Amino acid sequence: MMLYKNRIVNDHEVAISPFDRGYYFGDGVYEVFRFYNGALFEKDAHYRRLERSAEQTRIPLPYPIADIDGNLAQLLRAEKVTEGIIYLQLTRGEAPRGHAFPKPPAESVLLAYCSEVGRPLQAIRNGIRVIVRPDIRWLRCDLKTLNLLPNVLAKQEAVELGAEEVFFHRSGIVTEASSSNVMLVKDDVLYTHPANHLILHGITRAVILKLAFRLNLSVREEPFTLDELRHADEVFITSTTAEVTPVIELDGVPVADGKPGPVSRRLQGAFEEYVGSLNK
Ligand code: PLP
Repeated sequence: MMLYKNRIVNDHEVAISPFDRGYYFGDGVYEVFRFYNGALFEKDAHYRRLERSAEQTRIPLPYPIADIDGNLAQLLRAEKVTEGIIYLQLTRGEAPRGHAFPKPPAESVLLAYCSEVGRPLQAIRNGIRVIVRPDIRWLRCDLKTLNLLPNVLAKQEAVELGAEEVFFHRSGIVTEASSSNVMLVKDDVLYTHPANHLILHGITRAVILKLAFRLNLSVREEPFTLDELRHADEVFITSTTAEVTPVIELDGVPVADGKPGPVSRRLQGAFEEYVGSLNK
């Protein structure tokens, strides 16, 4: 089943036009929600980010967030899944090809579906390997847009090299990863890139920063260099799907002793507790 425009329909009833601007320009935005125990995690933050991505790209939401929320709840009930993700996409709609916005405006096309996806327990436990590459993306990485070709190509390179994720850097400053945010620990201080236009303002990143404050960890939202990354005590990524996943290897070199570190473990525990507390 899918949410297509304002209705829950069977997949075969979805008819996206080949003239959809999302198809030929990547002219659209998206969100990825996780649901645990049938409930959307941090949904208000995801809706706020969706509204912001839509506003800044000037793609009108076809109807209010409250109705989108009602439709997503209906989708989850229809699919009878309790653990997984919802992918939601909004494009500027169908119009003859031309870079400027269609006149009169096209009807935005909203689509969402859910998939049963378990938590990546093995990666969370054992950690992942990462490669590092230049960040060749545009300068509005704070918007969650469909234009993911740099991310796609980088992730493929990682896969071909036997790694699971790619860290991006701009002139030696680590920004984020291809589909997650990056945090490092050095001398008991947690560092992560500031939430500006160079990174996606990850919902999981924000949750982890909140939990780190609660645990009395020192947190610095400051840029760090590749050299600092390579000399970190611990490195981990955060995302809706990866949660808190330790990084044990960078470009084939172990991070510290090559095992997930104690701060990562504490934050993983705090995150699990937080998720559990919401589902009571
Ligand atoms: N950075 C990028 C480029 C992403 O694509 C994602 C998620 O897909 C994230 C960070 C993590 O964001 P969130 O925690 O909201 O999933």
